[in-house]
Amino acid sequence: MKKIAVLTSGGDSPGMNAAIRAVVRKGIYSGLEVYGVYQGYAGLMEGNLKKLDLGSVGDIIHRGGTILYSARSEEFKKDESQAKAIEHLRHLGIEGLVVIGGDGSYRGAAKLTEKGFPCVCLPGTIDNDIAGTDYTIGFDTALNTVISSIDKIRDTATSHDRAFIIEVMGRHAGDIALFSGLAVGAESIIIPERPFEIEDIVQKLHKGIERGKKHSIIVLAEGVCTGNELSKLLVDQYQIETHVSVLGHMQRGGSPTGLDRILASRLGARAVELLVEGKSGRAIGMQKQEIVDHSINRILNQKDPLSEGVYTLSQQLSI
Ligand code: ATP
Repeated sequence: MKKIAVLTSGGDSPGMNAAIRAVVRKGIYSGLEVYGVYQGYAGLMEGNLKKLDLGSVGDIIHRGGTILYSARSEEFKKDESQAKAIEHLRHLGIEGLVVIGGDGSYRGAAKLTEKGFPCVCLPGTIDNDIAGTDYTIGFDTALNTVISSIDKIRDTATSHDRAFIIEVMGRHAGDIALFSGLAVGAESIIIPERPFEIEDIVQKLHKGIERGKKHSIIVLAEGVCTGNELSKLLVDQYQIETHVSVLGHMQRGGSPTGLDRILASRLGARAVELLVEGKSGRAIGMQKQEIVDHSINRILNQKDPLSEGVYTLSQQLSI
């Protein structure tokens, strides 16, 4: 193998740049030429590729977002679009592709692999919703952003004796809500993976008031309902007033944490090794501190398990 390419796809996540840097530097270290594909699969269909050198990934390890830009493309789901993408890659003599993104991006890579083009995937998403890895690249940064935001909201909640609903990202996954909720000592954590009873939330709010608590924090994963919907339910049915804070896209930005930079660097370097070893259709992750790789299709058919221990603990500590 002499030439490989790398792209970022789907929602951006902090640490994607560190992963790109690792792929480029490890590739060059291994004697390869490395190309960057701009704008994800949309750019790949258009042949929007550029050779990257050591300097082109300098000064990016600490930056959020992705220097290769990201995109979503419905068009790429068509067989003929995937064939076109492979044509562009082969035309440049590229023999392997590293895809950094979420599960949708993995599906695209699985299709290219099926059509005979070797791909390996790295989990780049803040949602932590990919099986086969304990954490995804960007999750730790998003978690810390949420924690510091809630800490600030807590100051005002305490000063004004208020209950706050904090709506956090995660799409269909509750990891951001669960981990941040545990880390800020939230009274209630509501996630899509577990049913919730509105009465439990109300009971906790009342218990808190009885104990003389000055604030209440309810962390709500966006995959359940909106903060405003929950707030309306509480006021309509129980006459409980809450304030809603939707953290929004700030959760996807910012300089990656040390853990995300290291995870991205290690997984990015491993992606190059796998391609050089002639392996393809692999999804790379970190499980129990070890770098592992699994078949992309297996990962796509597997449900990412909820961290049961963390969930149980959050319940026990918020009584
Ligand atoms: P995030 O988790 O941040 O949303 P993602 O990678 O899951 O990231 P998607 O928008 O679901 O984001 O997927 C990214 C792109 O992958 C899509 O825009 C599309 O181009 C490609 N893709 C998704 N599903 C398929 C599929 N079944 N076949 C081919 N390509 C796909």
